[in-house]
Amino acid sequence: MLVLKTAKEMQAWAQAQRQAGLRIGLVPTMGYLHEGHLSLVEEARKRSDLVVVSIFVNPVQFGPNEDFDKYPRNETRDLELCQGAGAAAVFLPLPADMYCRDASVYVVEEQLGRGLCGARRPGHFRGVCTVVAKLFNLALPHVAVFGQKDYQQAAIIRRMTRDLNFPIEIVVAPIKREADGLALSSRNVYLVGDERSRALGLSRALAVAAEAVAHGPQPADGVRRHMSDVLERHALRIDYVEIVDADTLEPVAQAAQGCVALIAVYCGKTRLIDNRVL
Ligand code: AMP
Repeated sequence: MLVLKTAKEMQAWAQAQRQAGLRIGLVPTMGYLHEGHLSLVEEARKRSDLVVVSIFVNPVQFGPNEDFDKYPRNETRDLELCQGAGAAAVFLPLPADMYCRDASVYVVEEQLGRGLCGARRPGHFRGVCTVVAKLFNLALPHVAVFGQKDYQQAAIIRRMTRDLNFPIEIVVAPIKREADGLALSSRNVYLVGDERSRALGLSRALAVAAEAVAHGPQPADGVRRHMSDVLERHALRIDYVEIVDADTLEPVAQAAQGCVALIAVYCGKTRLIDNRVL
């Protein structure tokens, strides 16, 4: 497995593979890899000849009071996991190589990013879109795989790909969970003491939403109240609880099958998100 450390090396390698007629799959990550990330690599392998995993904790997508500095990192372990998962290359750039000091062009999605995490984390999706556009231009993938874990992010990347005409197939892979329902996340490592068990409130609240609409549509406000009750019983501080249209991400009045329930909470100091297509 190749480890590419600069943007220039990444792009030259990708160009050579393309010239050789090979199909490139890209899995963008921020590292501290877990089974969720590896499931994306597996998905990308099915759809390409060579998989590139990018590992980059992107400073531009973190707000001033967020966890950029303490975001968990373990490069050695990540490289082993990528090798084990069959990645052809890992792209591990430094922030100074990704962003010129006087960089002044960013990618902004203006519709799907207005609510949910976009409203709660100003500038977050601008950072995400910008770095993903750059990764697309460096790794030159034919296909890129993202996780449903970040439902809004995946929708925004799809939109960006469509609206900026990137010739890239976007695949969204299902959420990997622990046996008890907790969605895998690099940030789960922050959970201490009873926070790990309290974090189960997210998947339980989503299950309550799915049950509520199993026999027909229900007023969304009532379903959201049931979800909030579950979250509060687990002593989770709610950032948002929403039920939205799967495509537009607009809140719905009637929750029904096919809608998406999304949650963001603080469990202690850790912000956790989860979602479920009902
Ligand atoms: P991150 O490293 O958290 O930025 O995530 C990198 C990619 O992995 C994103 O496309 C995420 O949606 C995806 N991902 C994160 N957690 C999971 C999970 N539990 N299951 C599937 N994909 C995931």
